[in-house]
Amino acid sequence: MGEKPAILVTGGAGYIGSHAALALLDAGWPVVVLDNLVTGFRWAVPDGAVFVEGDIADSSLVGGLIDAHEIAAIMHFAGSVVVPESVENPLKYYDNNTARSRTLVATAIAHQVRHFIFSSTAAVYGIPDTIPASESMPTDPINPYGRSKLMTEWMLRDTAAAHPMNYCALRYFNVAGADPAGRSGQSTAGATHLIKVAVEAALGKRDGVAIFGTDYDTPDGTGVRDYIHVSDLAAAHIDALEKLIAKPNDSHILNCGYGRGFSVLEVLDSVDRMAGSQISRTMEPRRAGDPDALTADNRLILGTLPWRPEHDDLDGIVRDALAWEKSLGEKA
Ligand code: UDP
Repeated sequence: MGEKPAILVTGGAGYIGSHAALALLDAGWPVVVLDNLVTGFRWAVPDGAVFVEGDIADSSLVGGLIDAHEIAAIMHFAGSVVVPESVENPLKYYDNNTARSRTLVATAIAHQVRHFIFSSTAAVYGIPDTIPASESMPTDPINPYGRSKLMTEWMLRDTAAAHPMNYCALRYFNVAGADPAGRSGQSTAGATHLIKVAVEAALGKRDGVAIFGTDYDTPDGTGVRDYIHVSDLAAAHIDALEKLIAKPNDSHILNCGYGRGFSVLEVLDSVDRMAGSQISRTMEPRRAGDPDALTADNRLILGTLPWRPEHDDLDGIVRDALAWEKSLGEKA
């Protein structure tokens, strides 16, 4: 085995991108992080990665990086991720997630990058007819965020058919937790995601948690989601990278989830258990566009990659999220 080639990680100063950069470095891959630091943090870029501040749509910058570092693959995490914001400001999402991704893909093709891994989302399924959701089901996103990501999936599909590049689109379910070694975690302020909100409440950074809907068609009436530990998700990217390199003619679209769900109440109970305190809970109406339950059919990723979940434990996800949240408090 020769030296491993370098990987360009866009959005590597962000939550999931920084965990992927850590996993790549841990596995011996040289990493170049490109991030515009609009939502990412310079300190989140792991030691050992080359860091470049800039935009994915800056073709001369990106093309120069690809050539200078002989980039073999791009892992593309950079983008906008807040669903309600995508409803308020759809063109921002079609710009950051679709148009700028198009420019990045074009630069990759122009500079002979052979492999592309894309952060997609379970939001492409919208409100699925049946769960668990499988990759063969029709996609029908119900918000601009999901549509902005789905269009990039389509671009990659068509581009891979026409050019010598293969790709893997990973459809993330509900990503949560933090690096178990405490090297990174979810740091952006103003979080809306349940586990992040709940650990902030447990640590007194907010008054409590609003439960958005208690009349769903689920066992306890609250929404059910498939929470995946960010380190398992990062590991899936490494396996996808190795698969793309080993089989350059094959591309993949793979769900990333554990195939089981927890309700909002189960999550809050876990946070109470792990924090050793009780978060104050309020009942609120349903949030627009929330499905009752969304879980992943993960048979395809299990059959395609050697990937196996290693952190499939709600209490463990919450414990790591709490530990990170505490360390953020100490940083502030
Ligand atoms: N949720 C909640 N209170 C919050 C945030 C989320 O009750 O403060 C619920 C939400 O309605 C959904 C689940 O928690 O059932 C997960 O929501 P989140 O925003 O974390 O992720 P989504 O599944 O919407 O991407």
